Amino acid sequence: MKPKAYIQTFGCQMNEHDSYRMMEVLGAEGYDLTPEVDDASLIVLNTCSVRENPENKVYSQLGRLRRLKQQNPELIIGVGGCVAQQEGEAILKREKAVDMVFGPDNFMRLPEMLAQVRGGQRVLMTKWLPRDKQVQNFIPEEWVERGHVEGCKAYIAITKGCDNFCTFCVVPFTRGREASREPENILREARDLVSRGAREIWLLGQNVNSYRVHDYGFHELLEDVSSIPGLPRIRFTSPHPNDWNNRLSDLMAARANICNHLHLPFQAGSDRVLHLMNRQHTIEEYLDKIRYMRSINPAMEITTDLIVGFPTETEAEFETTLRVLEEVEFSQIFPFKYSPRPKTKAAKMEDDVPRRVKEERLARVIALQDAINARRIARSVGALEEVLIDSANPKQRGAMNGRTGGNRPVTVPGAHLEVGDLVQVRITAASGHWLTGELVEEAAAASS
Ligand code: SF4
Repeated sequence: MKPKAYIQTFGCQMNEHDSYRMMEVLGAEGYDLTPEVDDASLIVLNTCSVRENPENKVYSQLGRLRRLKQQNPELIIGVGGCVAQQEGEAILKREKAVDMVFGPDNFMRLPEMLAQVRGGQRVLMTKWLPRDKQVQNFIPEEWVERGHVEGCKAYIAITKGCDNFCTFCVVPFTRGREASREPENILREARDLVSRGAREIWLLGQNVNSYRVHDYGFHELLEDVSSIPGLPRIRFTSPHPNDWNNRLSDLMAARANICNHLHLPFQAGSDRVLHLMNRQHTIEEYLDKIRYMRSINPAMEITTDLIVGFPTETEAEFETTLRVLEEVEFSQIFPFKYSPRPKTKAAKMEDDVPRRVKEERLARVIALQDAINARRIARSVGALEEVLIDSANPKQRGAMNGRTGGNRPVTVPGAHLEVGDLVQVRITAASGHWLTGELVEEAAAASS
């Protein structure tokens, strides 16, 4: 019987993508993946340190895994990803049950690490790979055509790391300096994923639209990926407002297979706070880009990240954040209370907005967004949407779930659909973020 590996992923799509790559690497080592932690002889936590909460979750999960290791001393436990990069040896010192700690640049070296652990060592691998002139094919040649298709979706990492050093953000320290993959390396991966059933490809990068190899930038890459025959949907995340331009908005409007969804973090409505965050743009510049995009593509769904209670944020400055929500009418927001992260510049500032005030501001943005979302989603009822079916509805027998181009989840009951079908759906009801619809006609079957 094959040994079993269990991977638990915390955090963003980039971590999910890294976990899929780890699955492929471990599969080549003879492991089967298991959804049951108790069945595994290898457990890997792929961690996130962008906020305090997921980091705390990793340590409490390690406490639970310690008990499994006491019952089964042969069990191998690894901690990978951003907390591993940030904390390094401290994890090995703090948690004796952990056998290996490795950063995001090292997961392709799992076979080597496992051999060392089996040889009786505890392993620490947090060295950065060399980044030659910031261009790096960080997916090794032999793995380019072995990407993972999950249902009908696949992720491609096109850049890694970030050079922006926003003062609240730990990513430049946990993922390193920015590097872009060679275009042909990415396009080969995309063509291969399409030939193996991918209907929707996500291009990933911490600052995805700063992708550049010499004079070939994100615009050129998006043009080329969207020209691949048989690929009906492309998404990307997360772009930075500084690197966004109207040419990219024009391309999104012109290409039917680039989805009508943009996740563009604005973080704060006040120019003074944006400056303290080192965001390098004003709120008017951000809003101008959104206004242009909406003027040529009114159907565009825009989502965002924002932080409340950044050091020194006043009540009046917080209210400018509320005004941005009102103007843009985001379809979804990911709001966070500021918390200092290790090594960042903001961690040296006094965290002077009281917790109670941060909580109250967070509650206000959530309440406002709920009202905005209720308005927006009510307008969806009766509309015709193209939906990519991606899974069976776990609660409703015979119903299938999918996503609109704007990335809204939709349930389509009783229509005999399959994962990968791209269909026209009339929206009949809306609740919270979720839509329900009925099939109008099949746009393109999974087999097409
Ligand atoms: S752009 Fe800023 S927030 Fe985004 S990953 Fe880079 S440093 Fe972090």
